[in-house]
This record gives sequence, structure tokens and C-alpha cells, in this order.
Amino acid sequence: MGEYELKPCPKCGGKAEIRRVGEYRNLFAVMCSQCGWHAAKMSEGALALSDAVQLWESRVEAIENVSKIKPCPFCGALLEKKHREYWGTNSSKKKELVSYDYWEHPLNGCIIDFASPEGFYVYEDTIDDWNRRVSDVQ
Ligand SMILES: [Zn+2]
Ligand SMILES: [Zn+2]
Repeated sequence: MGEYELKPCPKCGGKAEIRRVGEYRNLFAVMCSQCGWHAAKMSEGALALSDAVQLWESRVEAIENVSKIKPCPFCGALLEKKHREYWGTNSSKKKELVSYDYWEHPLNGCIIDFASPEGFYVYEDTIDDWNRRVSDVQ
């Protein structure tokens, strides 16, 4: 599996590692060999190799762009960065710590038709959509 040139972990700079996961060992997940950070959310824990690699690359890229998150185009509010951790069950039915960053829009009555089921939250992988929304409005 050495044919992939993976970006390093965005959290600690550690080397990305491809692991076989899942019942039949033919599914994959990419994680940091140093701090264990996963690109995948729980529901996406085990994927075909190329999908797992693609997910890692796109999520690392989203995190690298994080400082570029734009203020709300309607009210000008800056989104507040938050962090969440919880214990979930992964695809091998083992408990594992899930941690991710997200950005919260302040509750000030601003109406946003941003296409996100979570409403006023922007996640690492939807920052691009959020920023695009901003430029659509301006
Ligand atoms: Zn790491
Ligand atoms: Zn707003």
C-alpha cells in the first residue's frame, strides 16, 4: 500500500497510515500513526482503499483551509471555533474517541439558508461550501 503519497496529519504532522479494518479485512481507513486522528467520521470508518485515501486528502485539505473561514455574509458575525469529542463505536464494534472541530454561528436571529442539515454549524469538510455561499451572496 506504499503507492499512495498521503498528506501528513494536520493535527500533529505525523505520518498518515492506511489500515485494514472491517469484518472481512478488505476495507480501509486512513489515520495518523502518531496521534490517531481519523479523517473518517464513524459512519464512514471503513471504505474501499481509494475512497479512504480520497477522504483523508480532502479532509486534511479542508483543515488546512480552516483559517480562511469567512464571516457570515448576512450579519457579519465571526463564527466561533468549537471542539467536540465523544466515545463512539467504530466499524469493528470497538469504542473509539471521535474528535472534530466545528464553527458555530452566534444565535442572533440571523437567517441563513446555508445548505446544511445542521443549520448554524460549519464543519471542517463544509468550510468550502460555506465560503462559496459567502461569495454567492456578496
Ligand atoms: Zn496526528
Ligand atoms: Zn449571520
